[in-house]
Amino acid sequence: MAELLQVHNLSVDYLTLGDTAVRAVDDVSFHIDEQQSLGLAGESGCGKSTIAYALMRLHKPPALITGGQVRLMGEDILAMDERKLRTFRWNTISMVFQSAMNCLNPVVKLRKQFFEIYQHHGITKNRGEARHYAEELMALVGIPLARLDDYPHQLSGGMRQRVVIAMALALRPRLLILDEPTTALDTVVQREIMQEIDALKNKLGFSILFITHDLSLMIEFCDTVAVMYAGKFVEQASSKNIIDSPRHPYTHGLKNSFPSLHGDIEHLEGIPGTPLNLRNVPAGCRFQERCFAVRNRCRDVEPERTTEGNRFFTCHYPLKNDGEGYHRKYSRTEQR
Ligand code: ADP
Ligand code: MG
Repeated sequence: MAELLQVHNLSVDYLTLGDTAVRAVDDVSFHIDEQQSLGLAGESGCGKSTIAYALMRLHKPPALITGGQVRLMGEDILAMDERKLRTFRWNTISMVFQSAMNCLNPVVKLRKQFFEIYQHHGITKNRGEARHYAEELMALVGIPLARLDDYPHQLSGGMRQRVVIAMALALRPRLLILDEPTTALDTVVQREIMQEIDALKNKLGFSILFITHDLSLMIEFCDTVAVMYAGKFVEQASSKNIIDSPRHPYTHGLKNSFPSLHGDIEHLEGIPGTPLNLRNVPAGCRFQERCFAVRNRCRDVEPERTTEGNRFFTCHYPLKNDGEGYHRKYSRTEQR
């Protein structure tokens, strides 16, 4: 399948005055094919949103892109001037922001908010036409058309999120970034919304970058999953491989931090400790302090990327392919 987005060696720093620069995204490379969905998983603060903003070129100081290349449909996003960028942003690449459903204008009816989008992007200035487009979108995300006359607060959380998704799809983008789109919703509504997005993806033929810390939700809806820790990709594989045989101990930890669909809550383990402070990046592996399998080499030498077929991971002592290695080692650590 054709490649839609290519990201090569992307680095993003936060440069706060009088403070050490923090490299929130460190030499990250990935690609997304046409109609493919890539999941980006990792705990809070590991750099997921920073990547999303950089792809849209919506990052603001103190964030600065310090290296790399982003190509969307062959066009170099990082080199585009503002005018060209405007024809790309929302048209070709679009985003549902983290907690976007709370960012709808509370004092403006939805109908008018849709009209403003079409007007702003030069689609139409005709209210009748805008109404027709808006109704099409509302139907697409399964909201009764009469709701266009509502204010945002009159809608349930799930409906508000559907409206925001409809808005992100208004200009029929080729790539939709979803940054923790369902985190504020209950789990049943979360799955419903993800199922609807998946159906829309197949119907309209766009690609998805789905960001969440909930690995079990991601695995259900993404073809491929990339796991990020402290600004780096530590593992990437098909959803099936991630769930069946995670190779990086961090992936395993994430997998066991969330109940799966047919939830085995008793065996949830979580990951000890807290994410790395990016101001103090240690020598060696970034996950060393929290890793059950840590050995001396992990403290001295940064692990290189190991590629196995379509997957890769960065770990000196990866889990076995069946995932069993973890359980054995983990119980030994527990007994210590
Ligand atoms: P995620 O979306 O995975 O939770 P973010 O991309 O929001 O992570 O943030 C990654 C890291 O970037 C944070 O841990 C923090 O160190 C740094 N960071 C984010 N926003 C800012 C900011 N406005 N100023 C300085 N540092 C920031
Ligand atoms: Mg975020």
